[in-house]
Amino acid sequence: MSRLDLYVLRSSSKGNASLISTDSCKILLDCGISGKALEESLALLNVSPLELDAILITHEHTDHTKGVNTVSKKYNLPVFATYGTWGHLKRTCPNIASQNIHTIGESEAFFLGDITITPFPLSHDAAQPVGYSFETDSDKVSAITDTGIITDHILNTVKGSRIILLESNYDLFMLEAGSYPYDLKRRIKSEIGHLSNDDAALTTLDLAKLGTREIILGHISPENNYPDLALKNTALCLEGHGFAVGKDIFLYTANKDSITLIHSLT
Ligand SMILES: [Zn+2]
Ligand SMILES: [Zn+2]
Repeated sequence: MSRLDLYVLRSSSKGNASLISTDSCKILLDCGISGKALEESLALLNVSPLELDAILITHEHTDHTKGVNTVSKKYNLPVFATYGTWGHLKRTCPNIASQNIHTIGESEAFFLGDITITPFPLSHDAAQPVGYSFETDSDKVSAITDTGIITDHILNTVKGSRIILLESNYDLFMLEAGSYPYDLKRRIKSEIGHLSNDDAALTTLDLAKLGTREIILGHISPENNYPDLALKNTALCLEGHGFAVGKDIFLYTANKDSITLIHSLT
């Protein structure tokens, strides 16, 4: 029996990193924070960066990658990403040693320690973006951020996850009324942009029906959303469809500047 824990270290449009761990394997999912911020976050969990086994990258955008060059080099960590993502990372992260460059297929499962990792394609304006499901003999968690749409393939891959980190990036009215240029607003709302609070609410409903017990709403835009708004929107949707929030399912919002602690970790 190998339990999986998902610690969201940071999550927002400004920087993303999570730790997925079992007793014998520790994986950093994205490294869009500085080495110092990573070391400080891990220290709060009594984890040394030397205990990390690998870094997995979802896509090349800097809010997911800005620390990977330094952290991989400093701790000699293997980095896993798709072929398209490496096309960018090889230029922006010149200090990743060649033996630490690992190319993965966008839908091909692979193994690290006692964890089976299954990537799935996302719909986002990056070269070859993926989300990930992590599974052991007795547990499963998944992360879905940076996608404009939720496909059946995504839902099928994450089905049965106990905990899911799910993007709830923007409130449509805040985005439309906000100061972003027209083209950027259109990109965010597009099928290769981000999930809105309404998209996240409907996805959460699907995930709840598939048995997920804890959902962390993440990648919340500091400009076009409020954590409370994202949370309320999704909670109302779930309650409206007969799910008791805090009983049938636990909902949280990820912190942008600190670790997010959830029910099953406390
Ligand atoms: Zn992002
Ligand atoms: Zn992105």
